[in-house]
Order: sequence, then structure tokens, then C-alpha cells
Amino acid sequence: MPFEPIITGNVGVPNAWEIDVYESRGGYRALAKALREHQPEELVDLVSKSGLRGRGGAGFPAGRKWSLIPKGAPEVYMVCNADESEPGSFSNHELLDWDPHSLIEGVIIGSYAIRARVAFIYMRGEFWKPTGQRMEAAIAQAYARGYLGRDILGTGYNLDLHLFIGAGAYVCGEETALLESIEGNRPMPRPRPPYFPPSIGLYGKPTAVNNVETLANVPHIVLNGAEWYTRLGNPPRNPGTKVFSLSGLIKRPGNYEAPLGITLRELLFGYGGGMLDGRTFKAVTPGGTSTPLLTAEHLDVRMDYDSLPAVGTYLGSTGLIVMDDTVCIPCAVYHMSKFYQHESCGKCTPCREGTSWINAILYRITHGQGREEDMPLLLDLSDNMGGRKTVCALGDFAGFPVTSSIKYFRQEYEYHIRYGRCPTSCQPAEERQWTISQP
Ligand code: SF4
Repeated sequence: MPFEPIITGNVGVPNAWEIDVYESRGGYRALAKALREHQPEELVDLVSKSGLRGRGGAGFPAGRKWSLIPKGAPEVYMVCNADESEPGSFSNHELLDWDPHSLIEGVIIGSYAIRARVAFIYMRGEFWKPTGQRMEAAIAQAYARGYLGRDILGTGYNLDLHLFIGAGAYVCGEETALLESIEGNRPMPRPRPPYFPPSIGLYGKPTAVNNVETLANVPHIVLNGAEWYTRLGNPPRNPGTKVFSLSGLIKRPGNYEAPLGITLRELLFGYGGGMLDGRTFKAVTPGGTSTPLLTAEHLDVRMDYDSLPAVGTYLGSTGLIVMDDTVCIPCAVYHMSKFYQHESCGKCTPCREGTSWINAILYRITHGQGREEDMPLLLDLSDNMGGRKTVCALGDFAGFPVTSSIKYFRQEYEYHIRYGRCPTSCQPAEERQWTISQP
């Protein structure tokens, strides 16, 4: 398990967010190399050859995304998606907190690769203190040292970088909703196809939207080469590392950078130290609550973009919420459903109505009012919200914990419906006193 971290190497270093500390640890060397030794197209090729896949969840190849930006377009934008809001995921937040300059360096190199002159870091509002303030200070330091602004490092390249603080909405993690937010509009996702951000993005111009972790990898690839990167992780399709956020009923919660392809068992019982109080592992969200659950039968699955779909789930944002045998699964899923009901932007009917219905049905199941028809109804609702029937993926996300929990823990739903109580004693008493609103 011993492993040299790549992108979290500065986490924990005193004052790592100060530019002097960052430079003393080799910071901005990759930028100088990129600007002085590479043409923009060479950097796109380099990142393509490295096999780096977007770390936001979908795993789309980063170099390919950059290559879709039309060459010669007069106005192009780079946008970093730092709106991390998936329940269970907190890896970007830690990177932003400790190491803002590595992200800034990645943003500048990425902007140069696609020939952007203006870039944005879109950060959720809840991160403002101290993360946003640190990022703002770090951007000012980068301007002062000549890494941003006019004629960067005397190479003739110009770039302005803006920090944009959102109001804090889950849907802004969806790239087109994020772009709407920057434009000052209500953040509702745009229908796709026909147009995708690399052709029509911010202000109608070609735009690359990349995740924090994706861009933080770029300076290391520039310094060490594409071949170095392809040897890490689980090549050839899943090279590199990923920061996994462990939370819930585990001994050592926290962020752990590990090679892609590490098994779930190594993550939970190696890095995470196993279950709290020696309890028995029951279930986990592999990529935040928007991904189907995994159970003990999946402990040897590899955590990467291809192995997880083979067992019916996704890597997502690698937010692992760990549940042991004291957790009542219907109650846990009920709490997840509240989140999706609250965060649905309301643009499309299946999601707007479906998330409320799912939440109401789960409420009555977990509060002693379940009906025989409730499980088929939950599955039917999830089916009607999923499978790309909605404008963005939130419709699918809201249904995943429901369908997967019924698949693996059907008997717990049946127990609730038959006996009107939890098979465990996890339900907060105060919630039982709430008025039940029947759908
Ligand atoms: Fe909005 Fe939900 Fe439709 Fe996405 S799926 S656009 S969040 S209503």
C-alpha cells in the first residue's frame, strides 16, 4: 500500500497555499516548461497520450475534450468546475484549501493548450471562507509573479483568471448549468445534444470545462511526461491516481490519493482501517450518493472507470459513504432522497415531480406508513426519471440509490412495510413525530 501521492503532495505542508512555499516545492516549473517548450497543440497531444480522464465523474478523456475546441476560434474559454457538492465527496475542497496554486498552474497550462485568453474557476459559495479567500489571494500572488496577466513569463501569452463564487446549488456541478450561472442566469442545464460546450459554451463560445483534480494532474504530466503517467494506476484505460473521500462508519475517514484500480477492500480496510467499533461492513456509495450502492459481495471490485460499470455502478466523484450493519438502508436512502428533492432545479417534469414523490414514498415507508405497492412504485418512478429522460443526469442520480438498495436490501423495505419500523434502531425519534404528507 505505500504510495507516493502526486496531486495531494502539498496537502499538510505548512502554508502550502502561499506562493513562496509552492515555488520552493517546484511549483510553476511545469508552466514555464509548457509555455517555453511546447506549442498549444503539443500539450493537447501530451495530455491525450497520458490517458488522463476527467475526474469529475464521467471519465471523458481530458486531452480529447481539449481537442474538440475548434482551432482558430477567436474567443475561447477555460472553466474549472470547483463546485464540488456531491454528498460524500470532499476531495476537491481539500485540494483547493491546501494547494490553490497547483490548480492555478493547471488552469493556465490548460488555457494555453486551448488558446484561451480568459479562464474561470467556479467555486461553490459555501467554500468562500477560507478556501475562496485563499484562492483569491493565490490568484493575486500569481499575477504579481507574472504567471497571469500580460506576457506571461515573457512568452507573449496573455491570460486573465477570474474566481467566480456560486450561490451553492448541486446542479451547478453540471457543466452547462455552471455556465448559465457564470452568465448570470438561473442555473438550469442546457439540453444536449445538439450543442456541447467545446463548440457552444460560455457566452456561446467554445469552452473547455474541467474538474479540479483533472487540472491539478496536468502540471505533473507536463513535468514527467505522458509515458510516466500511463504507467500509474490501472493502465491502459485507467491510468493515474484518484483522491477517494472516505466517510461514514469507518475508522479513519478522510481523503486518500490512491492508484486507480485499487480494490474497494484495500480502500476500506487498508486506507480506511476497517469498520468503526469492529462492526460488519454492509454497503457503500462508491461515487457519492448519486451512484448505485455496493455491498460486501463487491469488496474485490477495482475502483476505476471501467470496472465499476461492470458491476452496475460508477466511479462518480469517489465519495465513499460507508455503512455498517447498524444502518437501516431504507432510512439512509430516504435521507439521500431528501437531498435530490431539494436540489432538483425543476426544469423537467420527471425529475421535478419524481424526486418529490420518491421522497414522500420513502418517508412513509420509513415512518410506519408503508404500503404493499410502494416498492414497485419506487422502481417505476426511478425508471421514469432515468435512462436519459431528463435534461441532465440528476434524474438518473436520484433513482440510483433507490433501485440499488431495493435490489440488494429488499428484505429491509419489506420489514418496514410489514412491521412499520426499522430492522435496526437507526431512525431518529424526532422524525417519527413529523406530519406525514401522503403523495
Ligand atoms: Fe433540472 Fe432535474 Fe431536469 Fe436536471 S434532471 S435539468 S436537475 S429538473
